[in-house]
Amino acid sequence: MKVIINDFEYNLDTPKTILEFCKEIGIKIPTLCKDERLLPNGACRLCIVEIEGYKTPVTACSQKLKDGMKIYTHSEKIMKMRREILDLLFSNHPNDCLSCDKSGKCKLQNYCYEYGISEGSFKREIKDLPIDFSNKFYSYDPNKCIKCGICVSVCNNLQNSNAISFVDRGFDTYIGTPMDKGLGSCDCVSCGNCVSACPVGALNPKKKYEEDKFRYWEVRKVQTTCSYCGVGCQINLLIKGNRVVEVEPINTIPNDGLLCVKGKFAHKFVNHPDRLTKPLIRKNGKLVEASWQEAYRVIKEKYDEIMEKKGPDGFGGFSSARCTNEENYLFQKFVRTVFKTNNVDHCARLCHASTVAGLANTLGSGAMTNSIAEIEGTDAFIIIGTNTTENHPVIGTKIKKRVKEGAKLIVIDPREIELADYADIYLQIKPGTNIAVLNGLMHIILKENLHDMDYINERCEGFEEFRKTVEKYTPDLVAKICHINKDDLIKAARMYAKANKGALYYSMGITQHSSGTNGVRSTSNLQMLTGNVGFESTGINPLRGQNNVQGACDMGALPTDYTGYQKVFIDPVRERMGQFWKRDLPDKKGLTITEMMDSANRGELSFLYIMGENPMISDPDQNHIKEALKKLDFLLVQDIFLSETAEFADVVLPAASFAEKDGTFTNTERRIQRINKAIDPIGEAKADWQILMEISTLLGYEEYYENPSEIMDEIAGCTPSYGGISYKRLKNESLQWPCTNKDHPGTKYLHKNTMARGKGLFVPIDYEESKELPDEKYPLILTTGRMLYQYHTRTMTGKIEGLSEIAGKSYIEISPQTAKIYNIKNGEKIKVSSRRGSVESYAKVTEKINPGVVFMPFHYVDGPANRLTNPTLDPIAKIPELKVASVMIEKIERSSYV
Ligand code: SF4
Repeated sequence: MKVIINDFEYNLDTPKTILEFCKEIGIKIPTLCKDERLLPNGACRLCIVEIEGYKTPVTACSQKLKDGMKIYTHSEKIMKMRREILDLLFSNHPNDCLSCDKSGKCKLQNYCYEYGISEGSFKREIKDLPIDFSNKFYSYDPNKCIKCGICVSVCNNLQNSNAISFVDRGFDTYIGTPMDKGLGSCDCVSCGNCVSACPVGALNPKKKYEEDKFRYWEVRKVQTTCSYCGVGCQINLLIKGNRVVEVEPINTIPNDGLLCVKGKFAHKFVNHPDRLTKPLIRKNGKLVEASWQEAYRVIKEKYDEIMEKKGPDGFGGFSSARCTNEENYLFQKFVRTVFKTNNVDHCARLCHASTVAGLANTLGSGAMTNSIAEIEGTDAFIIIGTNTTENHPVIGTKIKKRVKEGAKLIVIDPREIELADYADIYLQIKPGTNIAVLNGLMHIILKENLHDMDYINERCEGFEEFRKTVEKYTPDLVAKICHINKDDLIKAARMYAKANKGALYYSMGITQHSSGTNGVRSTSNLQMLTGNVGFESTGINPLRGQNNVQGACDMGALPTDYTGYQKVFIDPVRERMGQFWKRDLPDKKGLTITEMMDSANRGELSFLYIMGENPMISDPDQNHIKEALKKLDFLLVQDIFLSETAEFADVVLPAASFAEKDGTFTNTERRIQRINKAIDPIGEAKADWQILMEISTLLGYEEYYENPSEIMDEIAGCTPSYGGISYKRLKNESLQWPCTNKDHPGTKYLHKNTMARGKGLFVPIDYEESKELPDEKYPLILTTGRMLYQYHTRTMTGKIEGLSEIAGKSYIEISPQTAKIYNIKNGEKIKVSSRRGSVESYAKVTEKINPGVVFMPFHYVDGPANRLTNPTLDPIAKIPELKVASVMIEKIERSSYV
């Protein structure tokens, strides 16, 4: 179509609004209520334009262009009307721009300046409405609110929390919460997405301390990747001096301008006064500050001594899912070339080792098959063993949005998680019965002939053996094993099998079992049975917990794999890698995290190098870990804070945080994303890659890189799936592996046309009970997990005041029936014991959990759930059974729950 705008002719072939098109061609039309992610609402009227033949001006945000339209965006009449609109808005606005925290970023202030409004001509008596400070992270000043409605729309249509809405009418309108509870007590999850979208100073991050204060013209912005969960949200760090003062979301892949409470508000750990700023050395039993030279001298002495005494078997290293790809690459290379052992592992062993093993076995690749953006096209979801809205909040938000648009949702989880409220069918299974429920679904699908036989014939193998196994799992049997209603199971099977595009999402509820690898294979069976692997918006989607746990696996921080899952025990692979690194490499498979701890306990492993991990809190059976750390001859820890593990160290090296270095993280959907140095390292801290380079050279394997970009070039040179990755490309492209050469566009979804292993493998899997079942002494099932307001072992989130105020204490969820049996009231302190030890925690009585089952988040030092958990391992992936243990509870004292 042809349109004429301000007397110039333009051609366009796709329908667009006037505002969209004008933006494209560089005509600036002011608007206060338009957010690109939302449907236009025309509330502010500021974007009015004149169209020839139209009686009155129209809003450019809502008016679509039509062929032949003649538009004037800045005519005299329009400019006058806009001035009047701005005048009216400013007349109803406090005149305190100088003291407003949003000054410099406020769109109303900027437009008033641009249109020459310095004072409101319709000034009326302004009511001094009370400011809502009740939220821990942000405040709402109704006096400054222009009622554009963006915050309400973001909350209800993008974040899908429905926490706020318009209250009252006319001049009295304000943004309120149900029953006027205030933003601190309503359903608000403090994602801050409304705060980021507010065009004026009504919603603002709280600035409690002097050092938090800044003016927007004083700060610089550095684009980077959120350092919390595996979603990998893109953010701008706002920097004043050498301090991160605010975080802004970026409207791009994968988060589309959304964040959760951690990404938006939990950045103060970076400049926290507790950061390690100097190396520490243990002298006379105490850790004391030392120079880098001194610390390196001790490391060298200990290395020489232990290498002579014990050889390579005496050494091991824990790499870090918190660190960059480049650092994980260097770490595993260091362990293999300097320690001369494959004893290298990281916390994936405790979360998704079973995913890597299970999916590699059935499909040939152990990663999330599809992309986050594809949620938009999914017709039915199975959410099993993932509390998505709390642990991968932005993905949870996208799933909720898709369900509101009409997609079906089946939730399978022992706890009634938030997504259960949105589900068409919720199956509240007994912990540890995933395989039974999945077999039950597949039994019904097969019996009712709802499976995709053409797909199976063409793309899979092992079907007949598998069919025989699931034949046993009748709805009656499964209902009995899982403690669910068989009719719900049948409905779920039919609903899912009939959907055009079915996607399965899971997390540690599937993997952290002694049958974790088999649980993963079962998800693969279901998705192949329904023809849901290898297509857009389908797939098997393990959600990876930590920011770079996918990357740490990809980089070979695993005892059996080099980068890109190339096996250390395959001779030609090892020889090739040896030539690349110019060293003979060990051929013996290395020890896993749990095996290294056992080895240390036996007095075999003597020198342990831990980079950015905290096994004292994250690993099962805490007493065993403590003993192991104490028995080591030498413990070297590299971290940003003195963690519970670092307290046992002989030498502690201060590392730079994500804001202080360059590198890449690979998110849960295999997307390799840059992190960019925004500030200088705090104190004498150094980037982990620099420390690794220096220690490697010190111990005899010379390493020198000018910057992490050179390390990525080396990674690309020895890792087929990263072969096309370079910093140069990442500047302009968003790439997902496999990306095998510099012309490869990256891979949006895996297994297109054929599975990575050739044919997809059906594996017959029988349900097995968890290894520790309730008995007379320990009659309850303990299951563990994570929660929205804390992260991992709280090394970072524990430093954030608001998070600690909301969720600073350990708790244990107990059903009302269980509470009644033990005469326990909500908030009472109780003792929880398993065969491995006892902890104290606060009871949270909730209907969300079934009688006989209790839940504890594992984050807390004051009630370390992992003192109780069962270290029994999955025989294949060696992942501990963190999701099921037997416990007893006892009432100890009365106290109020905070
Ligand atoms: Fe950060 Fe994950 Fe939250 Fe995104 S969803 S802001 S990556 S913690």
